[in-house]
Amino acid sequence: MARLRPSLRLFPPGLPRLTLSRHTRFALLLILAAALIQVFLHTQRWAVRQPDHELDEPFYTSCQEPAIDQPREKAAMVMLVRNQELMKALKTVQSIEKHFNQWFHYPIVFLNDEPFSKEFISAMNATVSGEARFGLVPKKDWLFPEWMDVADAKASIKAQGEAGILYAGLETYHHMCRFYSGKFYTLEALKDYAWYWRIEPDVEFYCSITYDPFVEMAKHDKVYGFTIALPEEPRTCPSLFRKMADYKELNNIPTTELWKATVAASWVPWPLRPFMGWFRHRDRSGDGWSLCHYWSNFEIANLDFFRGKDYQRLFEYLDKTGGFYHERWGDAAVHSLALHMLLPSHKVHHFEDFGYRHDWYYQCPANAPNGQLFESKLLPDGPYSPEREGGIGCRCECDGRRTRNFPAYCTNKLKEPNTARRLSMVESVRSWFP
Ligand code: GDP
Ligand code: MN
Repeated sequence: MARLRPSLRLFPPGLPRLTLSRHTRFALLLILAAALIQVFLHTQRWAVRQPDHELDEPFYTSCQEPAIDQPREKAAMVMLVRNQELMKALKTVQSIEKHFNQWFHYPIVFLNDEPFSKEFISAMNATVSGEARFGLVPKKDWLFPEWMDVADAKASIKAQGEAGILYAGLETYHHMCRFYSGKFYTLEALKDYAWYWRIEPDVEFYCSITYDPFVEMAKHDKVYGFTIALPEEPRTCPSLFRKMADYKELNNIPTTELWKATVAASWVPWPLRPFMGWFRHRDRSGDGWSLCHYWSNFEIANLDFFRGKDYQRLFEYLDKTGGFYHERWGDAAVHSLALHMLLPSHKVHHFEDFGYRHDWYYQCPANAPNGQLFESKLLPDGPYSPEREGGIGCRCECDGRRTRNFPAYCTNKLKEPNTARRLSMVESVRSWFP
C-alpha cells in the first residue's frame, strides 16, 4: 500500500487515518475560500465610512481672551456627591473655578440623595464664583423602581458582589448608575437648563479653558462632548449590548456610522455566525460590541436630547429589563450605546484640548506653540509646561510629553466616523501603548 504523504496525515500515527479524495479536498478548499470571501464582505459591511473632511475638530487650538461679556447658554455644571466627599469635591470645584469658571461664572448644581450638611453648603458657597445650588434627588428617582421585586434584586446584588464584579455588591452604586442613566435628565432641579457639564469629586483640570464650551457646542450643532474613551469592564453588563441591539432592530432604527464604529464585526463565517449570538456582548446576528464607551464622569451635553422622547423611551425599555440591578450597567456604557444608536457622528465632540484627570486616568494636551497669549491680563500665571510642536493646549500644567495614560484603541475607534485621515496599522497599534 502506498505510504500516505505527511501533509495528508490528519491524525498522529496509531489513530485511524483519514484519507481525502481529490474531489473532497477541492470541495473543502472551495468552502474555505467562500468562507474567507464571505467574512471579508461581512466585515466590509461594518466598515466605517471615511468622511472627505474632518467632522469634529477642537473648537480652539490656542489660548483665547475669555469673552467675559458674551451671552451665556442656559447651562450648569452638575455634581452628584455625598456629604462625606466634601474635601474631594472642593478640590474639583477649585480646579474648575481656576481653569474655567472664574471667567464665565456658570452655576454649579450639587445633587445628593440625602440632604446636604450645613458644612457642605457653606464650604461650596465660599468657593464658587457663580451660584451654588443644592438639590435633593427624590426617592422615586433614586431607589428601586416600584414594579421591581426588591428582595430578588437585593439577592442579585449580593451575588454580583460575591462574584467580585466591580462595585456591583453596593446597592447605592446600582441606584447611582440608574439615576445617571435616565432619571437625572428629568429632574426638577435641572429644568431651567439646556446644557450640563458633569463633574465629580477627585477631578482635576490642567489647562485654562478660555472659551465657553456650551456656546461652542450650540454653535457647532453638537449634542455630546467627552474627554476619555475606554473599554467597559465586561462582567458588569453581560446583556446590555444585546438589549440595545434588540431594541434597535425592533424599532427599525437605521445603523449609524457611530453604531458601526462601536461594533466589532464577527469573523465567524455564516452559517455559524448567528450561533455567536448565544455569547455575551453580541447581537442576534453574532456581531459583537467593542465595549468602547465615553467615560461619563466628564460630560458636556445637551439636556434636551436626553430628556427627549427617543432617549427616554430607550431608557424606560432598558429599565424594565431589570439590568440596572440584576447586572451592574454603568451610565457611561448606557449613554454611549444610546448616542451611538441615535446620533449622527458629527454631533459628538472630543474635547482633546482639555487637560483632565479622574482617578488614575488622564488626558493631557501639550501647550500650543505661539498660542499662550502672554499679553493677557486675565489668564493665570505659570508655572505651566513648555510649548510643543502640534500642541493645542492653553497654559496646561501637566507634562504634555505624555499625553494620556490609557490606550487609544477606543478613542481611535469611536472617532473614526469623524476622522478623514485613517491611521496606518503601525500608527494605530503604536497608539494603543501610550
Ligand atoms: P466611579 O467613578 O465609577 O468610581 O464612581 P463614583 O464613586 O465616583 O461615583 C460616581 C458619582 O456619583 C460621584 O460623583 C459620586 O460622588 C456619586 N455617588 C456615588 N454613589 C453615591 C451615593 O450613594 N450618593 C450620592 N449622593 N452620590 C453618589
Ligand atoms: Mn468617579
